[in-house]
Amino acid sequence: MVILTDITEKKKIEKRALRDGLTELYNHSYFQKRLSREIDKMKEYDYRHYLSLLMLDIDDFKQFNDTYGHQAGDEVLRSVARVLKQEFVDESEIVARYGGEEFAIILPEVTKVGLKIKGKEVNELIRSLAVNYNDLELQITVSIGGATYKNSESKEEFIKRADDALYQAKAEGKDTFHFSD
Ligand code: GH3
Ligand code: MG
Ligand code: MG
Repeated sequence: MVILTDITEKKKIEKRALRDGLTELYNHSYFQKRLSREIDKMKEYDYRHYLSLLMLDIDDFKQFNDTYGHQAGDEVLRSVARVLKQEFVDESEIVARYGGEEFAIILPEVTKVGLKIKGKEVNELIRSLAVNYNDLELQITVSIGGATYKNSESKEEFIKRADDALYQAKAEGKDTFHFSD
């Protein structure tokens, strides 16, 4: 019995190590490992499958924190995470907190066309999100970059293309989705 409890505890601890403390999304390190694994799978399948990636960054979040406070900002991060988890419920869809106010979503079997639809949907979803905090209804927007895996590119190249697309979305005036061709 004691041993069983130990195993359960150990599993819980192991599971927690994959997650980000604030949002309970997968953390950066798990994201990296999982993306490597998905790229390996693409090779195994001789690139006959699809793999897509979305990178999100909250717009003007520094200003948001300055205006409403860091705690309100934390609440927004939790709410964005909740909405993304509700949107991507498939076990193969990996929603991660990439960094401070940045999120990354791995989408196996999603094509270029599918990704363009998803990217726009997520953009609208976050725009319509109202976060209740101390009698306030707070709103934020995100900029999103998307890329679909190209045969034999490295993980780093793949992430960079999605990241560059995100940068483009920011340059286009934020609150938008940009796809990397
Ligand atoms: P941009 O539209 O270009 O993305 O502007 P930005 O202000 O969002 O970007 P910048 O990189 O200048 O600032 C990111 C901000 O995100 C600053 C930092 O305080 C905030 N942030 C990062 N992690 C957290 C967190 O865990 N909680 C809160 N409340 N804020 C965070
Ligand atoms: Mg950022
Ligand atoms: Mg930002």
